[in-house]
Amino acid sequence: LFAWANWGSRFYLRNLMSFSALGLNPALVEAVHQAGYTQPTPIQQQAIPAVLQRRDLLAAAQTGTGKTASFVLPILQILSAQPIQKPRPVKALILTPTRELAAQIEEQIQKYGKELSPKLKHHVVFGGVSINPQMMALRGGVDILTATPGRLLDLIAQKSVSLKQIEFFVLDEADRMLDMGFINDIRKILSMLPPVRQNLFFSATTPSDIVALAKSILSKDYETIEVAPTFTPVERISQKVYHVDKRQKGLLLKELLNTNL
Ligand code: AMP
Repeated sequence: LFAWANWGSRFYLRNLMSFSALGLNPALVEAVHQAGYTQPTPIQQQAIPAVLQRRDLLAAAQTGTGKTASFVLPILQILSAQPIQKPRPVKALILTPTRELAAQIEEQIQKYGKELSPKLKHHVVFGGVSINPQMMALRGGVDILTATPGRLLDLIAQKSVSLKQIEFFVLDEADRMLDMGFINDIRKILSMLPPVRQNLFFSATTPSDIVALAKSILSKDYETIEVAPTFTPVERISQKVYHVDKRQKGLLLKELLNTNL
């Protein structure tokens, strides 16, 4: 039993260490431990120290890689070390294309920030629901705002939020943003941000139009991070490619099924 307990505590400490070795403070390490994470994912290992060093990032990572924590954790750490201003200006803006993604990010901010003291204020806004409760919620000021582009512009037009004191600008799922036609909204929002800020650019894919957009946003010495997609096939599944005429596809499939099964 002693040996087990000893091994168990060393195992526990080693795993706790791996998040703290990235430079995260004990309150955040405790929160990720409570979330059940045993070790940082590859994107977290690369992005967290870079964000803490105040670098701009171009990160190619898909949903499921742990990318949200890779920007939320260091932002929480940096903002929680700053004195609280009254009224609280928005210091971190996270733009994401859909309501579902926005809600998931907000959930993670809540989860990772719960051991911080004093706590940071955060809120999420998206379209398709009444704007009034969002205007009320923003009135008291928030430190971190997660938003979809259209609703954010509506709230800015209503003077419910100002982006003048943004320190962190996160563009999440940039490729999906472009696919969904948000480029003009993004450009409008960019024109309202202060010129000196830290930019974190996330995209699942990085075709040339995305890289061009990234370069127009990021500082010159940005860091590039790339992680493998999570849904690479399991090793037990072997894959083969057969180049075959369209008309012969059915015949070949029949042949393969007959010979291999
Ligand atoms: P994301 O790629 O940010 O959408 O995260 C995908 C899921 O992975 C979320 O549900 C997170 O709660 C979870 N997650 C993030 N980081 C870790 C980690 N280090 N270990 C285990 N799960 C994690």
